[in-house]
Amino acid sequence: MATTHLKNYIDGRWVDSSSGDAFEDTDPANGDIIATATKSTTADVDKAVESARRAYDSWRLFPAPKRGEILYRAGAIMLDRKDDLAREMTLEMGKVLAESKGDVQEGIDMTYYIAGEGRRQFGDVVPAELPSKWAMSMRNPHGVIAAITPWNFPFAIPTWKIMPALILGNTVVFKPASYTPMLAVRLVEILEEAGLPKGVLNLVLGPGGALGDHLVQHPSVDLISFTGSSDTGAHISEIAGRLLKRVSAELGGKNAIVVLDDADVDLALDGIVWSAFGTSGQRCTAASRVIAHHGVANDLIDKLVGRAKKLRLGHGLESTTDVGPVVSKAAQDKVASYMPIAEKEGATIAAGGRVPTEGALAKGFFHEPTVLVDVKPNMRVAQEEIFGPVTSVIEVKSVDEAVKVLNNTKYGLSSSVYTRNINSAFRFMRDAETGIVYVNAGTIGAEIQLPFGGMKSTGNGHREAGRAALDVYSEWKSIYVDYSGKLQRAQMDADGGKAP
Ligand code: NAD
Repeated sequence: MATTHLKNYIDGRWVDSSSGDAFEDTDPANGDIIATATKSTTADVDKAVESARRAYDSWRLFPAPKRGEILYRAGAIMLDRKDDLAREMTLEMGKVLAESKGDVQEGIDMTYYIAGEGRRQFGDVVPAELPSKWAMSMRNPHGVIAAITPWNFPFAIPTWKIMPALILGNTVVFKPASYTPMLAVRLVEILEEAGLPKGVLNLVLGPGGALGDHLVQHPSVDLISFTGSSDTGAHISEIAGRLLKRVSAELGGKNAIVVLDDADVDLALDGIVWSAFGTSGQRCTAASRVIAHHGVANDLIDKLVGRAKKLRLGHGLESTTDVGPVVSKAAQDKVASYMPIAEKEGATIAAGGRVPTEGALAKGFFHEPTVLVDVKPNMRVAQEEIFGPVTSVIEVKSVDEAVKVLNNTKYGLSSSVYTRNINSAFRFMRDAETGIVYVNAGTIGAEIQLPFGGMKSTGNGHREAGRAALDVYSEWKSIYVDYSGKLQRAQMDADGGKAP
């Protein structure tokens, strides 16, 4: 039975949608309803955007160090509530408790890191061409940001967007994935408690579709920061492109771990199991391909199959569980649909491959951790994002072939190489067409102080996190102050381009 009802947060008040409709928030491990959430309409989106627009003028003038103080307080509250937040996250989207704690920790790290930007946000002061003239640049906020987020990191990813947007003086309308309204509400509650003025952050709950389109098209939304699937990202970019709106898009991946013939195979194996099956393979950086040099392939496959078969499925709150459910029935069906596709194309299911139908597992959206072998680089399972606990092993004969296979996908998020050869490692670091590269570590586990994002169709060139995040949520303004008291023409205009 539902115990909690989750509401929108608009103009500093918790409110139900104008339609009065609600949707269910369920535990993917057993189908239990853990909460109901208000189902927003386009009228609610309008109210949220109007509220953000009204708050913008005072928030952009609110001193940035003071904005930072609010974020520091928010970080401290998160730390205090870490265990409760993690527990609710596991109930809401299924990942095992330790990983939920990691998700919250990443949100804390990001919040503290960005809070410090309240006292930085450096611009340049440079020498001017002319005497008695000052030349400098400073960051300017965009205005109202739409933050549209996925369910797989329901706490961390919203902080990646909301914290830099706020510190730079933007106001925000936050639309989380409909699978994870509870964690979104918790994040907004924390920022409210930390003292964020009303209207600066607004929350609208509900499924994407019409709601998302309306938000993206709204004339008062200046920038859309989106993380999610490539299909939705392309759709949003198309609408925003016509309206000349700024978009930051972080999309899908088909990440790979390369294991060369000089690698420590057991170390690689640990990295593969963690990266392929952690969060049930639903991380954007999940290792859904393993590219194995033929010198180590047999040994690696034998061990990987053994390890995958031993992983225990279960509820993410149980300490015995290695792998939780996938997020929904639709996700479970999608993962299962790839098994016949793989076999038809000539791959072999060496471990897993089934949806469990017995006992408690039958009530949830589980899929066995699956290893596919005999996979060729152009097969669908080696090209498409399955987003479940499935990894495909592709064998290669050389470093050259490994790099070629790695880059043979439209995506470019994360990659990893296991090798003891320094030359191979550096060659890989140079040639991998991915925004994140690991050497002797799996494809998951990025740190927030470096840029996060992908090349090629994984995004549109922007990066989250690190200093790069500031570039998404601000625009450069170049300022010239002439204090000579006379008209001075810039070098390009004076005396045929010669310096005066
Ligand atoms: P999704 O595209 O289905 O949904 C993402 C968000 O977009 C949700 O809030 C959804 O409600 C909203 N949405 C849906 N239709 C919309 C529309 N027409 N207009 C506006 N918003 C709309 O993605 P998902 O299933 O929630 O997330 C999984 C995907 O996210 C995977 O492809 C994964 O690789 C990707 N992802 C990428 C990164 C990254 O940084 N590159 C990080 C995490 C997840």
